[in-house]
Formats: sequence, C-alpha cells, structure tokens
Amino acid sequence: KNNNLFAALRAAFPEDLDAIAVETDSGLYYSWGDLERGTAMLANLLKSLQLPEGARIAVQVEKSVEAMMLYLATLRAGYVFLPLNTAYQSAEMEYFIANAEPSVVVCGRKNFGWVSKIAFQHGTYNVFSLDDNRIGSLLDRAAQCSDRHEVVQRKADDLAAILYTSGTTGRSKGAMLSHGNLSDNAQVLKDYWGWTATGGPEGRGDVLIHALPIFHVHGLFVAIHGALINGSKMIWLSKFDPKLVVDKLPEATVFMGVPTLYVRLLAEPGLTREACRNMRLFVAGSAPLLIETFKAWQERTGHTILERYGMSETAMLTSNPYEGERRGGTVGFALPGVKLRVQGDGGQPLPAGEVGGIEVQGPNVFQGYWRMPEKTKEEFTADGFFKTGDVGKIDERGYIHIVGRSKDLIISGGYNVYPAEIEGYINDMPGVVESAVVGVPHPDFGEVGVAIVIARPGNTLDGEAIISALKSGLANFKIPKRCFVVTELPRNTMGKVQKNLLRELHKQLFA
Ligand code: ATP
Ligand code: MG
Repeated sequence: KNNNLFAALRAAFPEDLDAIAVETDSGLYYSWGDLERGTAMLANLLKSLQLPEGARIAVQVEKSVEAMMLYLATLRAGYVFLPLNTAYQSAEMEYFIANAEPSVVVCGRKNFGWVSKIAFQHGTYNVFSLDDNRIGSLLDRAAQCSDRHEVVQRKADDLAAILYTSGTTGRSKGAMLSHGNLSDNAQVLKDYWGWTATGGPEGRGDVLIHALPIFHVHGLFVAIHGALINGSKMIWLSKFDPKLVVDKLPEATVFMGVPTLYVRLLAEPGLTREACRNMRLFVAGSAPLLIETFKAWQERTGHTILERYGMSETAMLTSNPYEGERRGGTVGFALPGVKLRVQGDGGQPLPAGEVGGIEVQGPNVFQGYWRMPEKTKEEFTADGFFKTGDVGKIDERGYIHIVGRSKDLIISGGYNVYPAEIEGYINDMPGVVESAVVGVPHPDFGEVGVAIVIARPGNTLDGEAIISALKSGLANFKIPKRCFVVTELPRNTMGKVQKNLLRELHKQLFA
C-alpha cells in the first residue's frame, strides 16, 4: 500500500472528474480533473529538478488554488512542503531558509529579487515565482511538463511537511509531520465531523467555504484535507471577506474559522438564520473562542459553533462532539486514537477538575522539531507523550478546557494564577469586549498580573474600577496589580494574542 497522503486524497476524488472541485472568488472553476492534471504537471516539474530525497519545497506566496496544487504536487512527488507566512520579511525569510535549507523556493513575483538573493546565498538555485493570478515562472515551467504522473511511494513515517509554529510564544519551530500523521488526522476528522460527499444521498454533499490562509495547520490541513478526502467542493476565498462569506453561506454547508473571523462575521447584518439555512457545521479553533461569541452565534444563526483544539505539532487533538452537546468554553473530547492526559508539576496524573499540563500521544503526533533534537527530547515524556505547553483540565463530564499556555502562567507569591480565569471574569463585566492578563516581574511577589482590557465602542472603562470589582470575588493573589484600557491587543496573523509582546511592554512596571 502507498501511504502517500496524496494517494488517500486522490482516491476520494469523485468518479466524475469534470465535476467542480473548487470555485474561486475571482470567478474561476477548477474541476477534479484540473486538480489531477495540475498537480501531475507540478509534480513532474519537481521531479525534473532531480532533488535529493527529503528535499524541502519552501513556499511563500499569496493564497491561490495553484499554491494549493503546489502543496499537493509536493506530496505527490514525495518531497516535503514548507509553507511560510506571507507576512514574513527579509530577516524572517533569512532565518527560515537558512534553517530549513530548502532545495526549491517559490515566492511572489514582487519579492523575487530579495528572496532569490537569500536563496542563492544559502545554495538554493531553484527559485520560482508564483502570483495569485496564475502568473509566474513556476507555472510557465510546469506548463511544459506532462500531465500524467504516478504518485510516489511513501511510508507512513516519511515526512510530508514541515510546519513552522505560529511563533506566539517565541521563535517559530519547524514541526515535522509525516504522511501518516496527516492521513490519520484527515480520516478521523472526516468521520468525527460527519462529512458527506458531494453528490451524496441527498443529492448534495458538503461544500466548504475556505477563507483561511494556507500556510498554517488550520487552512492547509484541517480545511483542505477535510474537503478533499471527502470529495467535497470548496468555495475558495483568496482573503477573508466577511461580506463575501455571508453571501456564499447559502451555497455552503461547512465553514471553518479562527475566533476573530466569527467576531467579524457577527458584525455583518446579513448574517441571519436564513443565510445559514443550508449550513451543517461551523468549526472554530487556533485560539480560544470567547463564550460571548459562542452565544451570540447561537442566537443569530441557530447554529452551535463546534470548537476544537490542535496545534502545528499534532494537527487536531480534541473536538466538541458533532452529535452530542457542544459546550462553549471547552474544546470537547480527545479525538479517536488520541490519548490525552492532564499532569501535575511532578508528572503525576491529576483527577478531574484539576489544572495541569496537557500531554498527548497518538498517530497524529509529529516526528519532532526540525534540526532541534534537544528541544524535541525535552518536549516528550519518558513514556512517549508530547507536552503540548498548554495548561488545562478535564471536567467531571469529560470535556477538556484549555486555561492557557504554561509560558503564560503567572506565579505570584508562590501561587499559580491562570490568566484565562481572570480574563473570564473581566470579559463578563459590562462594557468589556476582551482582555489579556499577563505576568510581569515584581520585587516582592516574583510576578504579578497586569490586565489589558478592550472597551466596547462607546464605553469608557476605568482600570481601577475593574480591579476593585475583581477584588470582591477573587483571592487577592489572583488580582492584577494594574489594569490598562486599550483599543487593540497585539495579534499575530493567526489572530492569536501575543502575550510575549504585552509582557515585554510592561516588564518595567514594578522594576
Ligand atoms: P508557538 O508554538 O510558536 O508559540 P503557537 O503555539 O501559537 O505558536 P500553533 O501551532 O499555530 O502555534 O498553535 C497551537 C496553539 O494554539 C495551541 O498550543 C493552543 O495554545 C492554541 N489553540 C489552538 N486551538 C485552541 C482552542 N480551541 N482554544 C484555545 N487555544 C487553542
Ligand atoms: Mg505552540
């Protein structure tokens, strides 16, 4: 058996290869046959370059169907895909190219000058361009290649991709994912989320609105694999545009988004029950979904967002149930095949309700950090569990709650303070949209919490009043010592709040 992930995806293509696989916001239609031929041509181009075994194909391009095909072609040809955030500038590209030593680099035409220079300096001479309008040397070259290609044999533990983590807590690390890791996760999610194929029993299968970037686990793996392994059509949006998503909802059944996308969609008056009449599933993840967003979505659309939890190193780990109760503020249960436990500081398993480090094991867990054997070793326990770096608990009903990251934990006067708990109380106060609580150095307590709060438009908040309100309900060691009201929290491109920047900003407060 060929364990190449592409083989599994290809096997799910519908028999009718002329059916539409992808419809784009620029009015293009790609059939399943187009995907088959396009990926074959790109795979043949890669093959013609006579790359070494395990060669990395580094790609920093704007989102396009051709960029997705380049990913699929890389799998198909047996090489390792390495997507890079389009926001990265020269210092970052320098780091990633030096670190990953790709054999091929693909970038946008306007960046070709400086990216190719970096590539050349690191001995990579195969540099191609690709824009989001099907222009660039990559496609020019692929056009001369055969559109027939036999999928390369891969073993389950052969590398398929290196995904650099989002860099929320520090410098991005390259997570090495195998064909087996990704195939397994795709298959599990297909079953767990009840995907039905296009042209299914009701004569109409799932249609996914793809509005996420494709350099990250959510858009590249969860969304693309989800649709392809089910033979489902995608409505492909080059950028997230809330109005366009709302316009397309009646034609779709599945939508995936990070929490900020849901917040922005709620601001669209067109988001109604009627617009969502054909929708089957809304999935959220990558960052915590505020309970307020969860509830507002239910009221507006009649749909309950299904929140799930995962990371670059593991793909998806947990999910709220498709059939059973989806509980806001939780990430549901460990997916089939995933073992998840909550450990205390001494490495002992904790009973239900107690907060500790989340550790996981399963066929989806990655092969290690690229060229960081020491770091990899540190992040695995003696019995082979991966330490996610997230802190959480399992409630009495078995639902998993994420309370934050271990790096964001505040130790104040020897007591653990979980930022998510304090943020929850602040977010519930009238006039508050959102908040972030971070620890900063303090001469007496080691660390103390500082709250950064965003006010609802038209409301003025008083930091002192927020602190006094917290004092009436919480133990003193948990109370932030300062509270700032601001208009925006620093976020990375995945919408994650960058607490390291907030800590940096406020580190001198008590010095
Ligand atoms: P880095 O590892 O470089 O600091 P990162 O952890 O943000 O960055 P990703 O792999 O993109 O990089 O994100 C995974 C993390 O996102 C998880 O470890 C978790 O902290 C967070 N996350 C994902 N889904 C959820 C969720 N549903 N609720 C809360 N947090 C989530
Ligand atoms: Mg991480």
